[in-house]
Order: sequence, then C-alpha cells, then structure tokens
Amino acid sequence: MKKIDIKTTDQEKIVGTYARYDMVADHGKGAVCVDEEGKEYIDFTAGIGVNSLGFCDDGWVRAVTKQLKKLQHVSNLFYTEPQTRVAEILTARTGLCKVFFSNSGAEANEVAIKAARKYSNNKYGNDINWITTLENSFHGRTMAAITATGQENYHKDFYPFLGNFSYCKPDDIDDLHKSINDKTCAIMLEVVQGEGGVVNLNKEFLQEVESLCRQKDMLLIVDEVQTGIGRTGTLFAYEQYGIKPDIVTFAKGIGGGLPIGGALFGEKVCDVLGPGSHGTTYGGNPVACAGALEVLDRMDDAFLKGVAEKGEYMKKKLNAIPAVVSISGLGLMLGVEIKGKEAKTAVAEALKKGLMSLTAKDKIRLLPPLTITYEEIDKGLKILEDVLK
Ligand SMILES: *Cc1c(COP(=O)(O)O)cnc(C)c1O
Repeated sequence: MKKIDIKTTDQEKIVGTYARYDMVADHGKGAVCVDEEGKEYIDFTAGIGVNSLGFCDDGWVRAVTKQLKKLQHVSNLFYTEPQTRVAEILTARTGLCKVFFSNSGAEANEVAIKAARKYSNNKYGNDINWITTLENSFHGRTMAAITATGQENYHKDFYPFLGNFSYCKPDDIDDLHKSINDKTCAIMLEVVQGEGGVVNLNKEFLQEVESLCRQKDMLLIVDEVQTGIGRTGTLFAYEQYGIKPDIVTFAKGIGGGLPIGGALFGEKVCDVLGPGSHGTTYGGNPVACAGALEVLDRMDDAFLKGVAEKGEYMKKKLNAIPAVVSISGLGLMLGVEIKGKEAKTAVAEALKKGLMSLTAKDKIRLLPPLTITYEEIDKGLKILEDVLK
C-alpha cells in the first residue's frame, strides 16, 4: 500500500460530520493508545464509553478471534449460540424477559419507540402513541432518535420530525405532568444525561416518572446506551434509583469495541413485536456477541464494585484541583465543570500532553475503560491537573 497523509486525505474524502481531535490512533493496549508516530496517550475516553475492557484486552481478543474463525455472520434467519447466550445473561441479570439486538444505540432506541407504540396500539387503538422525552436528552441520530432527543441544535436543519413527541424539563415534576396527556404511551429518559453534560437526574423525579407510568399504563423506557454495562458501577444505572423500567436500551459498552446494541423488554412488552414487525440484517452478529459475552462474563460483582471505587477515587482527586468547580456523574462516567478556560481548550491541551478525554456541553467528560489501573488514573489526572493550572 502506498503511504498516505491520513489527516489530509480524511478531510478531503470523508464527510465532515466529525470535528476530529488532532491525533491518528494506531494501536492500543488497556488504557494506553499509541498514535502513528509512536506517542503514547492515557485513555479517558474508552472510544466514548465503548471499550469497556480497554484496547485489545487479551481475553476479549481471544473470545472474538475464536468466534471469527468459526462463523462470522449467518443472518437472523438462523439461530446462533453467542446471540442466545448474551440474551440469556442479560435477562437473567435484569429480570427483564426478552432482548432485541441491534447494531447501535440509535437503532436500539428505534426499536424501543416502535415497541412502545405497538404495545399501546394493540391494547388501546391507534391514537395512543405520544411519547414524552426530556429536554437536554440525547438518544441518537436517526430520525426517530433525534425526534426523541430534546435539544434544538440537533433538530434545526432536519424538519419535519415524527409527530406526537413532547418534552419535559429534567427533574421538574410539574412539567412532567404537563408533558403527558391521555394519549401518551411512553416516557423515555437517560438516568444520567450523557451528551447533555453528564447530568444526574434526581431519584424523586425518576420515581415519580415510574409511578405515573404504572398509573396510566405508559411504558418506562430507560436509555442506558451510555450508562449501561457497568459504566456507573452497576450493570445498569437504573438499579441505583430503585426503578423498574419496561424497556432498557443498551449499546456502547456491551461489545467491548464491536458494534452491537439492543433493547431489553419487560413482561408487558416482550411479546409485542412478532415476526415481520421489526428486523435488522447484522443485529446480534455472532462476532460482536462473542465480544459481548466476554465483557459480561468479566463484569461480576467484584468488577462492578471496582468501577464504583475507581470513580470515587477519581472524583476525590479531581475535587482537589483548584480549577475544578463541580463534578457530576456516576462511577466511571464523570462530568467536570472547570473555571479558567473552556473545556474544549483543556481537552485539546491535554491531548498534546498525552491524555485523551472528552467534552459534554461545557464540561470535560471522562469515560475511561472500566479496567483502567490506579496508576493509569494517576498519570491521566496529573496531565489534567497540569492543563488546569
Ligand atoms: C451514544 C448514545 C446514543 C446513540 O448511540 P449510537 O450508537 O451512536 O447510535 C443513544 N443514547 C445515548 C444515551 C447515547 O449516549
């Protein structure tokens, strides 16, 4: 292959939807990424919460390559063992009943929206189809998922959207009551709003949402695409709020780096979608599922407790940095409000010094791999501290 200038060619040949950071990633191991010039970076991004076991974890590579040599794809017209096993584990660990597998978070939310509308259509007739989501939420980039996303900047160039969505201010119980009507079939939310700036919702609000859903037979859909699969110190974040969703969507962290997502359905909804009502060619692909099996297998109670402890440790150290104003989030999903410079600038400067990190709104967002060591955490935080001086 002839040598190419990756940055220039990328900018010429790839649609410019991403404002990429100034780094060409070449390879990685654990929480360390190496660029094309051989420079090392501590990774506080995990590929936006995807590489839960870090880069190229040995067990994960073994599991994935083993499946890759056996059967890479066969379509959902046939049964496969890895997909069945992932479903078995997810349902056993959540008490929910059935899974639909997709390839991404947006697609996971699509099926959740379709299932919610079909549930109510079946039961009450075709006009019970309104869905309430929250302002400042993020549910993905497909047309239904951006309709659900309660942020005008994602909407502005793409009208018209799906009808019959309404938006509620997070943590505002009065507004919650105003945002539903007698045609509402579901309420959909993230328990910690990720892209919205790592905003934790409060427990009373979530419990009010749940109780309203029960009273009015609306479905509670929790989007755990970012918060799920161990990220917050429990398998799913909703577990920490004492609520029981009817539908839980997941994606990012489950495949350990391979594209897979899905929706878990509780008792009420698990038989709503029958043959022909929904589908996808790749969803629950056996190689991605082999990766997911390794991720889930590693995520036992001790591992999850470790995630919570590392999160507390990071919070404590971050709090000691004078430029840090506040810290939000749960487990290893942290939002850091800073003063003195913009988060965007701090993240770019940190990258130059060897730390990969993210922003969410005007905060620095940290989503390290769940397997990160304390030594790596210290190294990364030292860089952040230098940048924030
Ligand atoms: C990332 C994200 C999505 C979208 O996932 P994609 O895989 O990018 O489609 C949806 N919901 C939440 C909460 C997310 O963080």
